[in-house]
Amino acid sequence: MTRATLLENGLVVDGTGDPATEQDVLITGDRIAAVGPGLRHQLPAGLTLADIDVRDCAGLAIAPGFIDVHTHDDAIVLNAPGMFPKLSQGVTTVVTGNCGLSVAPFVVDEPQGALTLLGNSFKYPTIDAYAKALAEAEPAVNVAPLIGHTTLRYACMGDLTRPASPAELEAMCKLLDECMAQGAIGMSSGLFYAEAMPAPADEVTQLARVVARHGGVYATHMRSEMATILEAMHEASDCAFDAGVPLIISHHKCAGPANWGRTAETLPLIEKLAERQAISMDVYPYVAGSTVLREDLVDEIIDVMVSWSAPFPEMTGRMLASIAAEWGVTQKEACIRLKPGGACYFQMHEDDVRRVVSHPFSMIGSDGLPHDRHPHPRLWGAFPRVLARYWREQQLFTMELAVHKMTGLSARNFRLHQRGQIRANWFADVTVFDPLRIRDVATYENPLAQSEGVEMVFVNGVLGIDSGRATRSHAGRLLRRQGARS
Ligand SMILES: [Zn+2]
Repeated sequence: MTRATLLENGLVVDGTGDPATEQDVLITGDRIAAVGPGLRHQLPAGLTLADIDVRDCAGLAIAPGFIDVHTHDDAIVLNAPGMFPKLSQGVTTVVTGNCGLSVAPFVVDEPQGALTLLGNSFKYPTIDAYAKALAEAEPAVNVAPLIGHTTLRYACMGDLTRPASPAELEAMCKLLDECMAQGAIGMSSGLFYAEAMPAPADEVTQLARVVARHGGVYATHMRSEMATILEAMHEASDCAFDAGVPLIISHHKCAGPANWGRTAETLPLIEKLAERQAISMDVYPYVAGSTVLREDLVDEIIDVMVSWSAPFPEMTGRMLASIAAEWGVTQKEACIRLKPGGACYFQMHEDDVRRVVSHPFSMIGSDGLPHDRHPHPRLWGAFPRVLARYWREQQLFTMELAVHKMTGLSARNFRLHQRGQIRANWFADVTVFDPLRIRDVATYENPLAQSEGVEMVFVNGVLGIDSGRATRSHAGRLLRRQGARS
């Protein structure tokens, strides 16, 4: 007997941005079978009401499952496959491998530098090996993998302080080609990080050409989000344009007090570039960023909160300024002593965040760091926060557009096949939420807190969250690029 669920009387927010309408949604197997009014009176042949799990969704929104387009969940989907921080927000798909950092294709015992963002699990020489591990782990959410440029450098080069030699670049292209053939959805870069900074634009362009041949996408944490951000944007867009790939600018921001307000320059540039190439961006709805501890990001002006520290775990969750005062040193010096570690940097201005979040090209990505002891609250709250703060409270956009930025737009830009919309015959990734109640609860002080108002979440037709609680389902899949062999 086919598994079937009928969601009745809900407000269908279909992911396209079009106005919501009151409809029923019938789910059979892993697909949305029908969308329309009065579906209980027109069931498909062979299906009776007695076979169906009927849910009254009066007062609730029925949306496509949210797509977290910017994650570092590569290892956590294997190690903690319940993925509750994401599933509980209504997220049904995570795009992994962002910022140049992916666990595949790489094998190493003790990862260094920026790779520590991904935890300590690098055991997958190919996407096929990663796919096998995913099939065994049975994660609760879908996984769409990008291949990291930094990871390719680690895999093919010894010394990362210089550009790749022609032979090394050839090896990187070959490895990337293999990963794309096995279904990776594209490549990411993190030119901001030390291991990738020495790579010239041409190295990235050559790799992006491989991605283009397979119909993938290119996402980049650009070389700069500070003083030289416009140069970095030109570099990224030229690489993508020359290679012929769609460009996604990762977690777009203007960081540092000296650059506050400059989204008034960057967004018009993105619009201008869009006249010649496919370009979009992701954004998280907070004024603090988060990454590894780096003294060059400590300016003694902005607030910095320690999210983990290997030598001083007891400093987790504390402000760097207070640690520095206690130690009688500068914040930079305190940062150096606390390394290796991570931090939240309060480096953005709210006006810039609002401008980027409300821009028609922006999608929502959490950029959550699942391995941090005291993580940035975006890990548990990014998606409900966009609805609660920027739609309901501030009315920066309609609910339909907020959902579009988390679903339809994201699936289109990342080329995820038949996902991101409530549409007959498409995959049944569905999130049912209470539009009046949905809100993030996680804060900087208390980051491990479940959001409210997410009632039901279906992943490939299987109920993963019911009345806000995990069902312990494990219906996620590896989403290979459409057309790749599987
Ligand atoms: Zn990044």
